[in-house]
Order: sequence, then C-alpha cells, then structure tokens
Amino acid sequence: MSDIIHLLPDNIANQIAAGEVIQRPASAVKELLENAVDAGADEVRLLVKEAGKTLIQVSDNGKGMSEMDARMAFERHATSKIKEIDDLFQIRTMGFRGEALASIAAVAQVELKTKRKEDEAGTLIEIENSRILNQEPVAAPTGTSIAMKNLFFNVPARRNFLKSNASEMKHIIDEFIRVTMAHPEVFFSFTSNGQEVFHLEKGNLKQRIVQLLGNSYAAKLVSVQENTDYLDIFGFVGKPDLAKKTRGDQFFFVNGRFIKSPYLHHAVMQAFEALIPTDSFPMYALFIDIDPARLDINVHPTKQEIKFEDEKIVYAFVQSAVKHALAQFSVTPTLDFELDPGIQQSDAINQPLSDKDFQQAASGSLFKSFSQKNQAHFIDRSSDLKHWKDLYETGGSNPVSSGQDSFSGKLAMSAAQERFDADQLVQVNLKYIIVPLPDGFLLVHQQNAHEAVLYDQFSKTSLETPIPSQRLLFPTTIELNAADVPLFSEIILELSLLGYHIEHFGKNTFAIQGIPSDIPEGSEKAILENMLEQYKLLGNEQKISSKEKAWRSLAAQQAIKPGTRLNLREMQTLIHGLFDANLPGYTPQGRSVYRAFNNTDLEKQFGR
Ligand code: ADP
Ligand code: MG
Repeated sequence: MSDIIHLLPDNIANQIAAGEVIQRPASAVKELLENAVDAGADEVRLLVKEAGKTLIQVSDNGKGMSEMDARMAFERHATSKIKEIDDLFQIRTMGFRGEALASIAAVAQVELKTKRKEDEAGTLIEIENSRILNQEPVAAPTGTSIAMKNLFFNVPARRNFLKSNASEMKHIIDEFIRVTMAHPEVFFSFTSNGQEVFHLEKGNLKQRIVQLLGNSYAAKLVSVQENTDYLDIFGFVGKPDLAKKTRGDQFFFVNGRFIKSPYLHHAVMQAFEALIPTDSFPMYALFIDIDPARLDINVHPTKQEIKFEDEKIVYAFVQSAVKHALAQFSVTPTLDFELDPGIQQSDAINQPLSDKDFQQAASGSLFKSFSQKNQAHFIDRSSDLKHWKDLYETGGSNPVSSGQDSFSGKLAMSAAQERFDADQLVQVNLKYIIVPLPDGFLLVHQQNAHEAVLYDQFSKTSLETPIPSQRLLFPTTIELNAADVPLFSEIILELSLLGYHIEHFGKNTFAIQGIPSDIPEGSEKAILENMLEQYKLLGNEQKISSKEKAWRSLAAQQAIKPGTRLNLREMQTLIHGLFDANLPGYTPQGRSVYRAFNNTDLEKQFGR
C-alpha cells in the first residue's frame, strides 16, 4: 500500500487560509486600508467597482516597498511588523500576522505598484493564484497601489456566496467608516463605480465623525476625555436625541483598531440609563488607549474581539467617563422624544379630552395597556418575526380563521362584506372599532387592521397600478448616514410604486417630491426615516425579499396609531379595505387584526 499523506500546494494552502481573512470584499478593503495607514500614508484613495466584486483598489502615498519586499509581501507569514513573539506585546500597528496580502493573492488577480522615496524606479508585480505572473520596474509615484480584480474568480463557491451589491457595499462602507474614523489625520477618498462616495479632508475627530455620519451630528456630540495611569479614553457620545432604534452608530477603538465589545457597550448603556428609551442605542465613538501589554493579543486580528487583562477596570472607566461627560454638558432628556408630528397633529392630541372621553378611556384595562409599544413611532423589533414566519411561510396563504374564535368558522366572511352595517361602526377607546354583523360583531384593532390593509394594498401594486401620489409643493429633503444610502437607493423604485416619489439629490441627500394622498403633509420625513430603521431590522432575514421588507416596514409606519380619532367615513374606508383584503387575521408581524363574537355564543355566556 502506498502512503497517502501529502503536503498541500502553496496556492491551495493560501486559499484555505484566505477563507478566514478574506470573507467578502469588505474584508479586503479593511486589510488594504490598514496596510496603507500602517505605511504612514496621509492620503489614501479607495476605488471599488461592483461593490468590490470586480475591483478593489487602494492607493497610498506611504513609504512604499523595495523590489524584494514587494515580492515577499505576498508570502504567507510575511510581515515587517513583528520579529519575535515579544513584539506582539508591543504591537500598535493594525496588522501583524502577515496574512492579508498572501490571502488576497490566493483568491483574486492582483496588481501591485510600489515605490520608495529613495528609489529611482518602482516595482510592478502581477500575481494570480498565489503565483507571480510578471514583475518589472515601472515609473510610479512614491507609495503603493494595490488593485485586486475579480475576487474569488478561482473559488466559485465563495463567489456565489456573495450577497447583492447593495449588501456588500454596505459592508464595505461599514469597514471604511471604522478605519477612517480612527484616522482623522489622514485624507481618504472613496469612489464607487466612478462616483465619489466619501471625500474626507484631514481634520480632527469631531470633523471626521460629522463627515462620516452626517451634518446633523455636528451640534449633538458631547466630548469625552478621561486620562488615567491605566488607560486614556477620549472621543464623543451623542446627545440623547441622537439615539436610534437600530445599531450602527456605536464605535469602540482600542489603540486605534475598531473592536466589538458587548461588555463595554453595556457600560455606555448604563451611563445613558434613563436618558434614552430602553429600546434605543446611543451614538458613541470612543477611543481607548492602553498599554498593549494589558491586552491579550492571542485573539484573531480580523475577529474584532479583544481581551483585556482586567475588563472590569475598563468597564468602570468607560462608564464613568461617559457619565462624567453627560453630566458636564448637563444633557437632559428631551420630553417629546417619542412623539412624531403625525400624532401631534391628530385630533386626539389637539382637542382636549372631554370628561366622558377620559372616563371611558381610563376605566378600561386597555388604558393601562397603552404601553410604550403603542407609542407614536414604536418600531417593531424582530422578536416577532418568528411568529410571522410560522404564519406566512409555512402555509403560504393568509390564515383567516386560525387563532380566531369559533365564530369565523361558521361565518362566510365574503358574505359579511355586504352585510356589515356601515352606518353603525363604533370607535372604542380611540383604539378599536366595533363592526356589527347580522349574527354578531367584530372587534377590530384599528392600528393592526390598517397595517394589514396597507400591506395588502402594497402587495397588489405594480408598475401599471401604483399607489397614487401627490406632488409636494415644497419637496422635503432627508439626509441619511452614508451607510444607509445604498440600502435606501435599493428601495426607491419600490417606494415610488407605494406613492413616494424620491430622488437621489447627491451624496447622502434625497428629495421627497411626492407622497401618497392619504398621508398628512409634513409626516413623510418621519415615516420614511422610521421605515428605513425598521427595514434595517428586517435586514438579516434572508428569506424576505427587499420588496417585501419595504411593504412591511412602510405599512407599519403608515398605519394609524392608537389615540387617533376616526370619523365614520374613515372607519368605513378602513373596514371596507379590510374586507377587500379578505379579512386578514394577522398583520405581517403576526399580530391579531380582529376578534369575532357571535350572538349565539355570547347569549350562552349570559345564560340566554
Ligand atoms: P501585515 O500587515 O500583517 O504585516 P500584510 O499581508 O497585510 O501583513 O502585509 C505584509 C507586509 O507588506 C507588511 O508587513 C508591510 O511590510 C508590507 N505592506 C503591505 N501593504 C503595504 C503598503 N500599502 N505600503 C507599504 N508596505 C506594505
Ligand atoms: Mg496588513
């Protein structure tokens, strides 16, 4: 019998190793940007095509490489950053394992141009499948430019695994923001498909944050600065009204490297306690500088996790630094935090409650159930998704009767459409509608019903039959985080079918030109912003299409809220809509739309 063990060829070994380092275009972007910063560059340009799938190029004006180093750089474990194991405890640069370039060269077609200041000519290297195809002297400016083309061209399984361009682009922007935020002293530009997405002039940290996250942050940042013998903390936290329902504006850096730390996140949350609603996240960009000897570096560098020698101390410092900052700037909660303009304009808010209204409302247990959940722009959390999935994905169709009382089984709902007494609709507690039927009644939850009706209408739209839109005399603009721009762009077309005519106005700004006619003017901005937040919450649900996500999140935002008084005509429209939608039993989130009561059962309960 012959021996069966053999050594893997280098290119295969590198491909396998690459799996850990380069998972998607964004990982390559991160490695290349970090290398440029490590090389001492103060001007770095990133260029991508097709969300990095066809091209990622990073050019810097850093120290460049010698002819020999340029070749060496692509070898596995080739690094200039450590020499012996003790160096690991001193390391302050970004990379140190020498794996990035070797990995990139294993899974893409790479072209490197580099020149040191002291050299006459630069070096050009072309490499593919870990093999050098060409090396020659070349005229080049001082610095390094690396272009990687056709990522995973030789690993089709990985290439197929890549997500949509919008989604990969979002990952790239996230990484770009993380690296550039840590280096405001460096100029960065980022061009995607020929369009400059970011142009970040050198400046201070505050300017950089505003450049990255948006102008609206400028007046809302509170400086954090605490120096101790053990560690230094500096950076910014957002005032409470910058808090959002979704994550995204939370940044920790340790010695200049972005990290994720649920534990330290908790420390900041504690400092913000009582200043923001429990279901929202404060903005922060906090930099911790600590002696590298107090870190356990044996955690994989791309994993973004870190181990502190004593994390309790770090926790306490972070918490007190943030508390201190908030107190110094006497940041207090803003009272109208949870209210959106739509509800402030509604009759229920503008007209004082009559005594009768009040008693009616306060006596019921419903009054007490007016929890935070029912407030103006509560955004549904994904905890409800599972429920929803059970209902929709397994059955495919809408289970009208399941979960309802026995009544619905006995009643042919289609017949009810003609038979419900449209003149006798009654609103109860500004929250429910009673729909009398010949042999009973429905108790309809107005918000849930409206959400289900809107969802039904949205799902029936097409290019030929969009929701009618009304042109705004004064278009409203919304400014988004750069990271949200590709997501929003992805659904602009869908939104136009739903009655919102929106134009990309340049960079992060969008102009709302038209809105559905039944939306009060002035509420469109809040609706769309909240809709986007909710859309992002659905983002991880792979099985739901982006269209579907748009329908669901917009329906949730547009639905009338509890506390809205409805006149008879509005109730009629809503209930007709409900029957037109075949009386859906549930909202897309899986909440009940109505309860049915039938006379016979009711009478029995009363002993008749
Ligand atoms: P690491 O960054 O962990 O050392 P890499 O594979 O990313 O490993 O890079 C290998 C080496 O190539 C680096 O240590 C550095 O000496 C050199 N290098 C990489 N990128 C650049 C660059 N943009 N400018 C100058 N040198 C670079
Ligand atoms: Mg590196």
